[in-house]
Amino acid sequence: MIDAIRDLKVANSFAGLPPAFYTRLAPQPLNQPRLLHANPEVAALLGLSPQALQDPDFLDVFSGAAALPGGETLAAVYSGHQFGVWAGQLGDGRAHLLGEVAGPAGPWELQLKGSGRTPYSRMGDGRAVLRSSVREYLAGEAMAGLGIPTTRALALVVSDDPVYRETVETAAIVTRVSPSFVRFGSFEHWSGSPEHLRALLNYVVDRFYPECRDAAGGEAAAEQDVVLRFLRAVVGRTARLVADWQTAGFCHGVMNTDNMSILGLTIDYGPYGFMDAFQVNHICNHSDTQGRYAWNAQPSVANWNLYRLASALLGLGIAADALKSELEQFESVFLQAYRGNLRNKLGLMRWEDGDDNLLDDWWRLLHTQRADFTLSFRALATAPQQRTPFLAHFTADQEAANAWLDRYIERLAQDGRADGERIAQMNGANPVYVLRNHLAEGAIRAAAQGDAGEIGTLLRLLRDPYTAQPGFEAYASAPPDWASRLEVSCSS
Ligand code: AMP
Ligand code: MG
Repeated sequence: MIDAIRDLKVANSFAGLPPAFYTRLAPQPLNQPRLLHANPEVAALLGLSPQALQDPDFLDVFSGAAALPGGETLAAVYSGHQFGVWAGQLGDGRAHLLGEVAGPAGPWELQLKGSGRTPYSRMGDGRAVLRSSVREYLAGEAMAGLGIPTTRALALVVSDDPVYRETVETAAIVTRVSPSFVRFGSFEHWSGSPEHLRALLNYVVDRFYPECRDAAGGEAAAEQDVVLRFLRAVVGRTARLVADWQTAGFCHGVMNTDNMSILGLTIDYGPYGFMDAFQVNHICNHSDTQGRYAWNAQPSVANWNLYRLASALLGLGIAADALKSELEQFESVFLQAYRGNLRNKLGLMRWEDGDDNLLDDWWRLLHTQRADFTLSFRALATAPQQRTPFLAHFTADQEAANAWLDRYIERLAQDGRADGERIAQMNGANPVYVLRNHLAEGAIRAAAQGDAGEIGTLLRLLRDPYTAQPGFEAYASAPPDWASRLEVSCSS
């Protein structure tokens, strides 16, 4: 373990791409920055000891005041489709890539978000507010705790610098950590420039998808073969990711192609939400007036986004039909992952004929009664023995819930398994704690007073969300009434 930032071995492989891919520039530091929270778990991924978080260099680097020793600080360019419309050039408008650290289990890039204007800022101020930064800081850790692929967060630095949104708020910088921040939109940006597209493809394949080149014959591989295997891999990871989102009741909120990781990670946490009351067409982003990114739309949007990625790859002269047949794998990979997750959540041994039906009726039951997503699933494990606490989640029509439960018990009898085994399977798939909006809001309010205690509490619970912790029942309960009035939007 390394005890000081300056002893980290830092590189920046992204900076090895041609200069058109980025602009080298320094962040704009915050005034009188304070380290509100640092994450020892993510520090450990980088090989940093808890002691390194106390080092004054740590605050200097992650408030944007000092470069990461050995790194090459830059903002990357990308493009994208926003809400279904081609938006042209975007890019890191308020983010700075500091460099890449070889951690014990592989390389991790470190990126500041909210660290000032860049050539890609367009009309933006380059800043991020405390509110959205706390939400991003918590979300990566919540997803990691659930076992869902995600970017992570190392540090949250705050300041009294004013930031003008609907009201005056204060600035913060989150340090995000990910193997890569390359997006679908990074490829879309170069769709008209085969040399750049090829450089990006080779960079991403060599670092993150080497098996695609190996399987295509190594150095002598035909490019088309590598590209098709690469697309297949991205389709697979994206389909499995969205299956995980669906079965966690997670809505991303802004599935623009510039917010889609080429590694199949959840990235760019903005107006995301974990559902409280279940609604199939739940919209978590107040700015999404059409519901383009509603919960039930996420799989088809992911598929649509993959089509945009594949269209960019046409720029390499790849046959459209061949790309299309890779894209067509999406549905089967998604369904397999989705049913696999639900098999565990429902405590079944296999997914049988008829289970789709049982599941559809489960969703219908939750939807019509606006039952709590997380609590209903968790209560299902012991519902056969304890009907009353389960039925308590279905106050509008207990008879309907009772009837469904009878069918479910019959289905379990078909498996003929011991309850203990089934309950363990279900409790490992149905979390007790999720990062509900009102919990994040509590952490934001405390953080605004300089108190990081609530962030610490949430991280502790969300790191191991399947295990109930005595004394923390309030974090595992239905949301208070005021939660339904919380609005999260693109404002960040
Ligand atoms: P997002 O919706 O957060 O994914 O951002 C879309 C694009 O807008 C990205 O290129 C961001 O870097 C940029 N952006 C968002 N907010 C700001 C801001 N306050 N200042 C500069 N650029 C921003
Ligand atoms: Mg974004």
